[in-house]
Amino acid sequence: KPVCLLVLGMAGSGKTTFVQRLTSHLTAKGKAPYVINLDPACREVPYPANIDIRDTVNYKEVMKQYTLGPNGGIVTSLNLFATKFDQVMKLLDKRSATTDIAIFDTPGQIEVFTWSASGSIIAETLAAFYPTLVVYVMDTVRSVSPVTFMSNMLYAVSILYKLKLPFIIVLNKIDIVSHQHALEWMQDYTAFDAALNADETSYNVNLARSMSLVLDEFYETIRTVGVSSATGEGFDDFLAAVTLAETEYKEDYRPEHERLL
Ligand code: GDP
Ligand code: MG
Repeated sequence: KPVCLLVLGMAGSGKTTFVQRLTSHLTAKGKAPYVINLDPACREVPYPANIDIRDTVNYKEVMKQYTLGPNGGIVTSLNLFATKFDQVMKLLDKRSATTDIAIFDTPGQIEVFTWSASGSIIAETLAAFYPTLVVYVMDTVRSVSPVTFMSNMLYAVSILYKLKLPFIIVLNKIDIVSHQHALEWMQDYTAFDAALNADETSYNVNLARSMSLVLDEFYETIRTVGVSSATGEGFDDFLAAVTLAETEYKEDYRPEHERLL
């Protein structure tokens, strides 16, 4: 059975580029993944998609037909697609004997997936049948400020609790800035505290400090890897993290998702 990777992250964090790089990385190893694009609004898909939501719903037409703005159009398109998700499951099933990894690229705006009924339906349906992991892509360049880093991590926690799936944090764009500071902040509370104190733009240092104490427990339970989707650095580390998280799914998560079914 393939492991399903749900690639989530803020707009511009590099989800699509990450999917493109992971796809070529796996294909070069002779392990071409099954790739599904769930973003109805992307102009072009830079990887060979086996299933593309744009073949099923035309989001501009959906906007016109239901008189919606761009966000409403994207949400409604994903809802329409979710009603046909059984067909995706059938196609995936046909390939399940010969595929190790299925990758799901999601809409640019993260909340379209994480705070919509269709996102939950898709995640829960997948998790009931396949080992399913959340890959949370973060823009390392936008995480050099401790407060921004922390708010991004809080968003990650909220997804973890909502989707209840094993989690891998991908610190992307390490070709521009190293992710060492982030790793250090996650491993050593006092290092984060020092960064907070040094950051004059921190508007509420006390709140940030308390939050980071809460996040400490979260950091212990998740895997973090630094990658560059531009150069391919870190992708073998990422695949190692997938293997570990898949084991975690089988041991801790599957019973829960089978119950939901
Ligand atoms: P998405 O909205 O999360 O799907 O983000 P995209 O994949 O469209 O990427 C947003 C921007 O970040 C694009 O201009 C990408 O070229 C750029 N980008 C993505 N990953 C990397 C990376 O690892 N390094 C660099 N330098 N740029 C990246
Ligand atoms: Mg994208």
